Amino acid sequence: MPRAGKVCTGTRGVRCTEVVPAGTRCPACTRRAEEQRGSARARGYDHRHETRFRRAVLELHPICQLCGRDVAVHADHHPVDRRTLVLRGEDPNDPRHGRGLCASCHSAETAKAQPGGWNRR
Ligand SMILES: [Zn+2]
Ligand SMILES: [Zn+2]
Repeated sequence: MPRAGKVCTGTRGVRCTEVVPAGTRCPACTRRAEEQRGSARARGYDHRHETRFRRAVLELHPICQLCGRDVAVHADHHPVDRRTLVLRGEDPNDPRHGRGLCASCHSAETAKAQPGGWNRR
């Protein structure tokens, strides 16, 4: 008798041992794969734009805009954050909305802007 099924193809990062009809996934993996596809698409889209924004900002600001001393490695949205720009209908990937920061200034700024931090308005 031919085998009716084979082991589930699994999900990225997950090895599955469920036996399912060939070429299909078990329900749990199907759900996980769908979630991964969704988030990967969102990430991929953002990532391309993020890269363009970052490169342009770092070209404009090769030196950290805060300390003026270290090489800028982070493109930060400033003074308006990305979400606000999107809400205003502006292009959040326009390098005019960014500034270059070095690693230590960037982490200091990120800590300050954390929701629930003292800087919350
Ligand atoms: Zn599975
Ligand atoms: Zn700096």
